[in-house]
Amino acid sequence: MVSRVQDRSTVVTGAGKGIGRTIARVFAAEGARVLVSDLDLAAARATVALIEEDGGQAVACQADVSKRADAEAMIGEAMSHFGSVDILVANAGIFPSATIENMSEAEWDRVMSVNLKGVFFCVKSVAWAMRRQQSGRILLTSSITGPMTGFPGWAHYGASKAGMLGFMRSAALEYARDNVTINAVLPGNIRTEGLKDVGPEYLRRMEASIPMGYLGEPEDVAWAMLFLASEEARYITGQTLVVDGGQTLPESALALD
Ligand code: NAP
Repeated sequence: MVSRVQDRSTVVTGAGKGIGRTIARVFAAEGARVLVSDLDLAAARATVALIEEDGGQAVACQADVSKRADAEAMIGEAMSHFGSVDILVANAGIFPSATIENMSEAEWDRVMSVNLKGVFFCVKSVAWAMRRQQSGRILLTSSITGPMTGFPGWAHYGASKAGMLGFMRSAALEYARDNVTINAVLPGNIRTEGLKDVGPEYLRRMEASIPMGYLGEPEDVAWAMLFLASEEARYITGQTLVVDGGQTLPESALALD
């Protein structure tokens, strides 16, 4: 079988660690040429080194997705290295915790700026080129938190992740005639460095609430992305794919007994 993303030029944001790093590695292992973008250039370079060790092709790039000029420069860099951008994975995101009473306006703005405005800037920077080439795949990393569930301390985060989906649906309509699709993956609890700070008790209780009994791995998100980036998904746009081990299914804790 021909690899699904063979030779496709792919930009992955927030790819210096966690889910983004794994998306970059999985796509590169499938033959994609990957621009590994992150706020932290050293982290992006470390991902590139891992991809190269595995025999893949990748280039590191520093970009803060909340800055329009950075998003434009990132897409420009991918264009100059690869000649096109076939796939954008807008994955960068932050999830600081603060209850509404303790949340400052600055904290609200920062989360919206990275998670929501960052998606707007990345899509805006790449969509004209995808329209010109009459093909493209845009993938967003949303979350179950916001679109489907809530969690105390993450009102700003949940609003940003739900907001991404509203943006996505209108974007899907704007680009449908150009053979450019835009879809979102909604991960549940995925085992990444980002979850290190939440502590073992949180992780144990979280596992107990997941019907499949364990947290997801970053590969579970990357494989869903790979499908949505594939030719086989060409007729899917403006949709969400939940990757959560069944976490959002139980009506109550009784359903898990
Ligand atoms: P992570 O391990 O913290 O990785 C996120 C990466 O994004 C980091 O390398 C981070 O760099 C980078 N980043 C942060 N702000 C950025 C910015 N302004 N511009 C560019 N890059 C930036 O997080 P993760 O768990 O892999 O999460 C990745 C995505 O999945 C996020 O959108 C998150 O909301 C979503 N998600 C995660 C889970 C989960 O369980 N892990 C569940 C649902 C959704 P620094 O480290 O230098 O800040």
